[in-house]
Amino acid sequence: MAGSFHPPVRTLMGPGPSDVNPRILEALSRPTIGHLDPAFIEMMDEVKSLLQYAFRTENELTIPVSAPGSAGMETVFVNLVEPGEKVIICQNGVFGGRMKENVERCGAEPIMVEDEWGLPVDIAKAEQALTDHPDAVALAFVHAETSTGARSDAEALCKLAQQHDCLAIVDSVTGLGGIQLEVDAWGIDAIYSGTQKCLSCVPGLSPVSFSAKAVEKIKNRTHKVQSWFLDTNLVMGYWGSEGGRSYHHTAPVNSLYALHEALTILKEEGLENAWQRHANNHAAFAAGIQSLGLGFVVEPEYRLPQLNAVSFPDSVDDGAVRSALLKNYDLEIGAGLGALAGKVWRIGLMGFASNPTNVNLCLSALGNVLNTLGHECDPAAAVAAASEVYSSQQ
Ligand SMILES: *Cc1c(COP(=O)(O)O)cnc(C)c1O
Repeated sequence: MAGSFHPPVRTLMGPGPSDVNPRILEALSRPTIGHLDPAFIEMMDEVKSLLQYAFRTENELTIPVSAPGSAGMETVFVNLVEPGEKVIICQNGVFGGRMKENVERCGAEPIMVEDEWGLPVDIAKAEQALTDHPDAVALAFVHAETSTGARSDAEALCKLAQQHDCLAIVDSVTGLGGIQLEVDAWGIDAIYSGTQKCLSCVPGLSPVSFSAKAVEKIKNRTHKVQSWFLDTNLVMGYWGSEGGRSYHHTAPVNSLYALHEALTILKEEGLENAWQRHANNHAAFAAGIQSLGLGFVVEPEYRLPQLNAVSFPDSVDDGAVRSALLKNYDLEIGAGLGALAGKVWRIGLMGFASNPTNVNLCLSALGNVLNTLGHECDPAAAVAAASEVYSSQQ
């Protein structure tokens, strides 16, 4: 007979989920109450204002979708895109490809602007596409490409969208809480994120936010939103501030306690401090990685501090390294995706997992495993290189 499930205790340094702060796990285990209970509704109002803080927005329609980041992506597209419309999608990794899939399923036409994996979205190419397709209704791109570790210039891309009278749609599943993100100041019209990356919360929720202009487009749709569950017109009956609180679906009560706690932790630290912490830990980690003789896919200028795509020599057995890390060190790092499969590791320093202890653990464990597999390197020197960077940050 199967008994209770007790997961192994791991250190999560992959592309997500990231290590969950114990405060969040504790919040998750608090007693479940009804999702229409006045106490719960009060908490939801706080979740909304905490999300507005994290996104830096005053957008009224700022809510967590009750499903993972992919559902946030789908929420944005099914609500904003109508059949027959054109959407320009800038793709520089895996997730832009999913945007295309979403737009097609909306019965709309994706106009793809492709960039090499590991590079940020090319602003000039995006501008050319906007000029070539004046009838496009939106420009969509990934702010923080988790498949490559590249950061795109969201501010510049949103500005272009505005100049061409397009909505700016942004995937910041990995960006939120880890790097600068300014929904209002940059003019983002629709954005989705996830809980399990830099918020270090449990997976399964997707914060989204829509500008007034985006809401206007949703209200003036000629076709019904194809998804009943993700139709924001209906969801707003529950989340909307105009009272009512009608039943739409049973909110994932305990997961929302967890998100409330995660956002509270972020606010206690302060957004800018969180961004700086991610940058500092990345700098130390990068020094150690270079000392091990490994490289980075992305140039420092566009590199995400929270997602390190680390390249290794062809002779290294990718799978053997990752299994040894998991087996001997309880340490999870991620494999490469798509075009980078078998060529890189994706090492996350996200949220709660972005700390000096994890940086040192990963450098020494990775160095030891490489040595055991016959790739000579000096783990102690890598840890020392990281320490030197930390000292210089004091
Ligand atoms: C993780 C991720 C997603 C999908 O989120 P899920 O919670 O796995 O559904 C979408 N976009 C990016 C950039 C991501 O990193």
